Amino acid sequence: MLYHSTRNPALTADSAQAVLEGLAPDGGLYMPAHLPAFDWQKCLCGSAQEMSCMILSALLPDIPDMETLVKNAYTGKFESEALTPTVSVGNFHVLELFRGPTSAFKDVALCMLPQLLTAAKKAKGQEKDILILTATSGDTGKAALSGFQDVPGIKICVFYPHGGVSQVQRAQMVTQEGENVTVCAVRGNFDDAQTGVKNIFAACRGKEMKVELSSANSINIGRLAPQIMYYFKAYKDLMDAGKIRLGDEVNFCVPTGNFGDILAGYLAKKLGLPVGKLICASNANKVLADFIHCGTYDRRRPLHKTDSPSMDILVSSNLERLLYLLSGDCELVAGLMKQLNEQGFYTVPAELKAAIDAEFWADFAGDGATAETIRNVWDHHRYLCDTHTAVGRYVAESYVNRTGDTRPLVVLSTASPYKFPKAVLEALGGSLSGDEFALMERLEEMTGVPTPKNLASLRGKPERHTGVIAKEEMLDFVLDL
Ligand SMILES: *Cc1c(COP(=O)(O)O)cnc(C)c1O
Repeated sequence: MLYHSTRNPALTADSAQAVLEGLAPDGGLYMPAHLPAFDWQKCLCGSAQEMSCMILSALLPDIPDMETLVKNAYTGKFESEALTPTVSVGNFHVLELFRGPTSAFKDVALCMLPQLLTAAKKAKGQEKDILILTATSGDTGKAALSGFQDVPGIKICVFYPHGGVSQVQRAQMVTQEGENVTVCAVRGNFDDAQTGVKNIFAACRGKEMKVELSSANSINIGRLAPQIMYYFKAYKDLMDAGKIRLGDEVNFCVPTGNFGDILAGYLAKKLGLPVGKLICASNANKVLADFIHCGTYDRRRPLHKTDSPSMDILVSSNLERLLYLLSGDCELVAGLMKQLNEQGFYTVPAELKAAIDAEFWADFAGDGATAETIRNVWDHHRYLCDTHTAVGRYVAESYVNRTGDTRPLVVLSTASPYKFPKAVLEALGGSLSGDEFALMERLEEMTGVPTPKNLASLRGKPERHTGVIAKEEMLDFVLDL
């Protein structure tokens, strides 16, 4: 199937090549020229793995034997073979995406991406090993390390800001096992680490290297496509629970950062799933909520450090894919992205704004509203949610209050509360003395909600990756791997 850059229809690749390359050569993102016909009703009859297989076979037909790849990716890795269960909490339904090997929603995609990359490499006859380079502000790093651990033909190197991730997140990364993994702290903040990685890609472009560089970021269609499955799964769960009938529309509210997760929901809708509104939930970094309200994307603002750090982001890469899908106009997209790069903002034409309004709604929650939501949901429903999920829940309530829309609403839950024990405990009024592991224990004592095993077992695990380097040393570090 033919993919092309969102900025130029002449820059094409088949689906296996698109997964291998990640980013198109002009900096655009790969999208299919036409979405395939899809039997969405048949998809709803399958298990989570069968759904995943049907969706990925349709979108990535140049990657063979998808059934085996899906089985290798997911079997035995999640808490249950439901992979992503849906539970009802008051008027809303919560789609729990965090029950994978690292307790992050990113596990759903990052268990699958290594399988897709390996198969794409084989399909394209690429002999060289792949080196995945990733800068992380916390969650992506661990999910990627875990997904790529001991995958033959692929190495992975993760950089994180020294002193810039939580104690739990650091412990998750520095204890990572596997012959092909490297983790290193960089003196500086997340932007320094991210810029360092971009500079390595730039320095190596066009050079003869021992390995091919690639990234585990959601700019890669192989990272985005596996996320479509859980919208189908949630819909099926609501049908099985008798909450909806086939064909009823369901709204989804998505805590959003890079716009990958919510875009997967839009792709589910394009494949036929009866999705109503897609509600975009931002934290205090509300560049997306502002954009959806007024049609101007403006990153010229300070980045706030919030209690939902995985959404602390000012440039949401995957929004480019939406602009392309809604306008079908690569030249327009290329112009907007150029303006964003050079001037820091752009405004979309009126027709495009109207198309966005028809599909999306948006609002934001600051840290105060987030904490209040965690407390309210616990007090009224005895359901413990993390800070990102609470942002989603707050915005979902705001949507229902303002629009009166009575269609069933699913809030996507993107992390375990135990990954952010300090903010969650503080919201519940618990004592904050001790380290994060002590806070996890206290949270469990207070709520009775069990700590995920992968997090509880971190305490006392040997640290294997303790290096700290300057950002200027990153290139040499990678060349020596
Ligand atoms: C990555 C992440 C998000 C944001 O998802 P995007 O696909 O980047 O919009 C939200 N919550 C958590 C916990 C995350 O790790």
